[in-house]
Amino acid sequence: MGMRYISTRGNSPPVSFAEAVTLGMAPSGGLFVPEKIPIVDFSKLAGMPYQEIAVNTLTPYMDGFDKSEIESCVNEAYTPDSFDIPSVVSTVPIGNNLHILELWHGPTAAFKDVALQIMPQFMRYSKIKSGDNSHTMILVATSGDTGKAALEGFKNRAGISIAVFYPHGGVSEVQRLQMATTDGSNTRVIAVRGNFDDCQNGVKALFCDEALRNEAAGRGVKFSSANSINWGRLCPQIVYYVKSYLDLVAAGAISYGDGIDFCVPTGNFGNILAGYYARGMGLPIRKLICASNRNNVLTDFFAGGVYDKNREFHKTMSPSMDILISSNLERFLFELSGRDAGMVAGWYGSLAKTGSFSIGAGILEKTKEIIEAHWVDESTVLETIGTLYHECGYVMDTHSAVAVAAVSGPGYKRDVPIIVASTASPYKFSQDVLKGLGIAVDGDEFDAVRILSSTGAGAVHRAVDGLNKKRVLHDRVIDIFGMRDEVRWF
Ligand SMILES: *Cc1c(COP(=O)(O)O)cnc(C)c1O
Repeated sequence: MGMRYISTRGNSPPVSFAEAVTLGMAPSGGLFVPEKIPIVDFSKLAGMPYQEIAVNTLTPYMDGFDKSEIESCVNEAYTPDSFDIPSVVSTVPIGNNLHILELWHGPTAAFKDVALQIMPQFMRYSKIKSGDNSHTMILVATSGDTGKAALEGFKNRAGISIAVFYPHGGVSEVQRLQMATTDGSNTRVIAVRGNFDDCQNGVKALFCDEALRNEAAGRGVKFSSANSINWGRLCPQIVYYVKSYLDLVAAGAISYGDGIDFCVPTGNFGNILAGYYARGMGLPIRKLICASNRNNVLTDFFAGGVYDKNREFHKTMSPSMDILISSNLERFLFELSGRDAGMVAGWYGSLAKTGSFSIGAGILEKTKEIIEAHWVDESTVLETIGTLYHECGYVMDTHSAVAVAAVSGPGYKRDVPIIVASTASPYKFSQDVLKGLGIAVDGDEFDAVRILSSTGAGAVHRAVDGLNKKRVLHDRVIDIFGMRDEVRWF
């Protein structure tokens, strides 16, 4: 029997990769995880192009797909058309053991492209394999970057439509325009009066709404998700951990087998969780550093073992990390609990009821062997952008700066090489980046883009260039309780 997927809450029969992708999440609320973490000898992949590393890393997870199908998924996703560098991602040495992993060379300038360019390929094959002729409606909650990356991945694909919900006033101007100007006959973009957690909870509720599901099924429509609660979104992210590790080997910075750290600017815990799987698969990662902004619910959790979302929500300069409920933590805790679905269901029942849960000292100790968590305030983020620019000539965005700051303070001992995941192009957040560089801007976000391009930040990313001249096609704003009707209408 090949690799099957089980629910973190134990309330769903095991499913195939294809089913996990088309379902998005277990119908009764849990998240799908592979029933075991496969071991791969990554040392054999040294020197290979990204696409080949991807095929080798993904194959053990994609039972039911033959080699040519996996290759076709990978090769259609990672093309020169969609990524502006042949290596797909780039590992840039900055000095002092620090390396920046640029993950934003895809069509929308955020790391989410790496997964969302390949996920529609998974979806296409998965539907064929499960004999599914229904129309798929992808429902997405976004804090800014997932929305556009998903729209680009799924627009104009046969048999699929996509509805994106984002917090009204809770995303940057560039993020809003990127989504609102999306063409494609199968796309819908809606602003919700609420924050990201409201959008995410709203989408989760739609998935669990049996009456709505039945009504849709009656019209030949099935729901699915493109959020990182979908395993098909998560597993492609494992690949760049492998690629960047091997980049350091190729550059002579380490020998294969040396333990290094990764630091990840974290929101929904998807990106860093992919690092955990890479580590579990045998990649020599010592620790994963979980970096947060002022919304430091994860920092507190990893310090004391209590997850408590009952706290003030802060809007920061790193909006894609402004999250109080990190969905993918559930997958991590499932593993750390020794795959105890009952325990996980208890914790998440408590989270739904009281807004908090506690994992106890034993499991907390285990998390500390793998995760180190730090958070940074807004002024430190700006300072870090300035310092890296003035000392190394490198310009980075606000999210990446949270991560660099997290491993630059006294709380972290940089005694092995560390790779920091850079999750967005600086052009996505130009005004704040310029603030960090100490350059005054009077004018709007697009004046800031122009000014930033004269600092050494490189060419303006094509996702941002000319965006202010595109026509706005989506301008709907609704209340949280209106999400259900919106989907019915669509
Ligand atoms: C989505 C996003 C994050 C957070 O990633 P998670 O997988 O949700 O933890 C960080 N930075 C940027 C720029 C993002 O778009």
